[in-house]
Amino acid sequence: MIRLVDVCKSFGEKEVLHHINLTIEEGETLAIIGGSGSGKSTLLRLLIGLIRPTAGEIWIGDQDIAQLTEKELDKVRLHMGMVFQYSALFDSMTVGDNVAFGLREHTDLPETEIQRIVTEKLHLVGLDNAAQRMPSELSGGMKKRVSLARAIAFGPDIIFYDEPSSGLDPLMTAKIDELILHTQQTLDVTSVVVTHDMVSACRIADRIAMVHEGSIIALDTVENIKQSKDERVRAFFRTVA
Ligand code: ADP
Ligand code: MG
Repeated sequence: MIRLVDVCKSFGEKEVLHHINLTIEEGETLAIIGGSGSGKSTLLRLLIGLIRPTAGEIWIGDQDIAQLTEKELDKVRLHMGMVFQYSALFDSMTVGDNVAFGLREHTDLPETEIQRIVTEKLHLVGLDNAAQRMPSELSGGMKKRVSLARAIAFGPDIIFYDEPSSGLDPLMTAKIDELILHTQQTLDVTSVVVTHDMVSACRIADRIAMVHEGSIIALDTVENIKQSKDERVRAFFRTVA
């Protein structure tokens, strides 16, 4: 489904991702984990086509998105849902309008159909009856739910999450993890979740890719990663234990 071949990314003189090779299977949940500044968000932005690699190929289905024009990329992105670190909601719009925004921008769906989708997606994230509320009235966890509802409005094949529980307390984090799992099961999507939280990663992922200083140093199932002999991987578990 997604395949990175020898992907490098530099900003100016500085290479921040080195020869990344990674395959993400259809329907799996992959957690990308690593310390602050290790290159997780850069990797995610490459996958979404927000930035382009300095070298290498990024295959989404049968297209190398590194070679696409902006217009072609827009089309590919319609099949992707994105939940960013900061919920990035439009504060001046109701929750319902936030969820509907992309549908109104990019489709010709009639308003009744858009309203039906908004209601359905808000229900899926546990926010029935929130459509008329303003983002400023919501807690951090609820805002995350709204951004997830927005991300799934189009019926994406792949959902990308960048630090979905950053800034949330452990209880909220667990709830967001549950929601990611629930979404995964309900919609049967491929999910890529960037996090620095090993507990979360173990809870939600089928496999974990560990990024350290711009390289993937481990890529395995949760069970195998837990038993890794690599000192850098073990050190990461210790910091979160
Ligand atoms: P993470 O998400 O793991 O915390 P990032 O991918 O955001 O890490 O950043 C990895 C490295 O790349 C950091 O050293 C960061 O300063 C650098 N970096 C990220 N984006 C840019 C940019 N647009 N220009 C220059 N350097 C950047
Ligand atoms: Mg980041």
